[in-house]
Amino acid sequence: MTTNTGGCLCGGVRFATASAPVRITYCHCTFCQRATGSAYLVEPIFERTAFAVTEGQPKTYDHRSGGSGKIVTIHFCDKCGTKIFLGFERFTDVIGVFGGTFDDPNWFERAPENTRHIFLDVAQHGTVVPARMPTYGQHATLNDGTPLQPVIHEQPHTVVQRKPKNP
Ligand SMILES: [Zn+2]
Ligand SMILES: [Zn+2]
Repeated sequence: MTTNTGGCLCGGVRFATASAPVRITYCHCTFCQRATGSAYLVEPIFERTAFAVTEGQPKTYDHRSGGSGKIVTIHFCDKCGTKIFLGFERFTDVIGVFGGTFDDPNWFERAPENTRHIFLDVAQHGTVVPARMPTYGQHATLNDGTPLQPVIHEQPHTVVQRKPKNP
């Protein structure tokens, strides 16, 4: 078993994972843009049982998703403000880590087989998605769990400003 560790900026909250991520979601949605203050969230997803807070006690903030109407819970350090992981009312058996909080943020592999880019419809202009990665305009599944078909670009794909529909 591979143990990987991470934590917040001040070191008050530490965590460990006990497996490889189930998958990695690069989420370009406006929630993730606002929550990270950045262009997108690199979000390795883990089974809840493979993730443990090992030091400190993160505070939580419940946010109701505009899309699904379900609660997303942000777990963060109230001393330094670092966001550490997300819990989902919609998917209770998994959590999503803010990938940059790992001590080695590069330890997990990102391949087209285990990675997807979602919410490209609202991604920041100029964002580049690597070749062959599955991409979705919004969620990868419908609210009832039905999987949607990804769009796969053979070359690196740059998000550009959309032309107005009715010029
Ligand atoms: Zn902290
Ligand atoms: Zn998101």
